Amino acid sequence: MQSNKIYDVLVIGGGIAGMQTALDIGDSGFNVLIVEKQPSIGGKMISLSKVFPTLDCASCITTPKMAASSHHPRIDILTYSEVKEIKRVDDENFEATIIKKPRFVIESECISCKKCEEVCPVYITDDFEQGLGVKKAISIPFTNAIPQFPVLDETKCIRCGACARACPKDCIDYLQKPQEFKVKIKSVVISTGYEITPMDAKKEYNAKIFPNVISSVQAERLLAPHGPYGKFLRPSDGKIPDSIAYIQCAGSRDESIGVPYCSRVCCMYAIKQAMLLAGMLPLAEITIYYMDIRAFGKGYEQFYNQAKAMGINFVKAKVAKITEDEEHNLILRIDRQEEGSKPQEVKHDLVVLSQGLIPAVKNFFGLEIELNKYGFVNQKEKTFAPSKTNIKGVFVSGVASGPKDIPDTIVDSGACALEVINYLKNVKVE
Ligand SMILES: Cc1cc2nc3c(=O)[nH]c(=O)nc-3n(C[C@H](O)[C@H](O)[C@H](O)COP(=O)(O)OP(=O)(O)OC[C@H]3O[C@@H](n4cnc5c(N)ncnc54)[C@H](O)[C@@H]3O)c2cc1C
Repeated sequence: MQSNKIYDVLVIGGGIAGMQTALDIGDSGFNVLIVEKQPSIGGKMISLSKVFPTLDCASCITTPKMAASSHHPRIDILTYSEVKEIKRVDDENFEATIIKKPRFVIESECISCKKCEEVCPVYITDDFEQGLGVKKAISIPFTNAIPQFPVLDETKCIRCGACARACPKDCIDYLQKPQEFKVKIKSVVISTGYEITPMDAKKEYNAKIFPNVISSVQAERLLAPHGPYGKFLRPSDGKIPDSIAYIQCAGSRDESIGVPYCSRVCCMYAIKQAMLLAGMLPLAEITIYYMDIRAFGKGYEQFYNQAKAMGINFVKAKVAKITEDEEHNLILRIDRQEEGSKPQEVKHDLVVLSQGLIPAVKNFFGLEIELNKYGFVNQKEKTFAPSKTNIKGVFVSGVASGPKDIPDTIVDSGACALEVINYLKNVKVE
């Protein structure tokens, strides 16, 4: 990144939306800066197992986009960095203040040899594996991360000096500090995506207490070919589960937890995970408890029918409560949505919560961005210009404006790029 360069576009968030928007804008000859708060670009998609409805490998699709973004002559990327503030300078320009967090590694010298990681004696919880595995206190965030620079966990490092001694380029810097700098930009794209509803949003599921109630993203990692165990095991005892339950709407369509809307992807990702599980554990019984299945996209209904044909049980029921027995098996109190049925108790080895999608960002860097009633960025002209926000020169792409699956995110990002290019042409970029 060049400090005195004026960027045409600042894209905030390097998920699939941010990367696609940046690539389309960069291909049109404009200079783009992507700022990503995580140590690698890729967003949530890089941690998924496979994608519905094609069951293509998620990282096989995401990695080429990550590589294309990082090698693009018109795109600069700042990872492990956050936008502190964006100020309008005049009618056509903004100034952004960015903070680059310390990795405690001199990036310009690092050759990604992983020697530091090999010798580090401290193991810490692996965030990329959603807490299901461990990694070293200095490590590259995941195998196909871009960039391939390690990050040292300041709070867990014991300062033994092993990494500094092992580094052939002498690039461990324990005293590195956050760097703050300003860049001039002509437009902004918000691609900050989503977070999933917290595990304890529905207290009656005791998800933070019972080890065998896992999140949907943990299930993605267990199903990923390069996941933490290489197998689908339940966390409490490493047993291969025989009976797995999915609870739909475990964080959406529920006024009581403040998420009354449908998150659009949970039915489909639960069906996808169930199908992958059926392939991995052919003898396991898999049940999806649902309110109604929303298979709305191209080929999605067929995907749902295929899952039923594979023997996955779909039970129209609300799960009122989860308790566990002494072996950490889970007892679900279910209320079937059928006339005359009585509440029932059923036992499963493992439960996956289909949580919903909520906005990742509440405070938009000092910009007075209008939000919709659910806290996503409001689409000012939803039908004809969905990426326009209430602020001139500020656009939105991907899930930052509301829940979407990957195909819709890609289409939305392309539309956003066109809107930005149109805007930049009108403001006469030289
Ligand atoms: C369990 C699960 C399984 C799924 N499976 C599928 C599937 O099979 N098929 C499918 O089509 N869809 C699936 N989805 C949906 C899919 O994940 C989304 O459609 C897609 O990831 C949206 O991309 P995005 O770039 O908008 O958001 P994200 O992937 O959330 O990317 C946003 C990026 O912005 C960064 N960011 C956030 N805030 C800031 C900030 N302040 N500064 C800088 N950077 C920031 C984040 O770190 C992140 O990298 C699934 C979702 C879940 C939860």
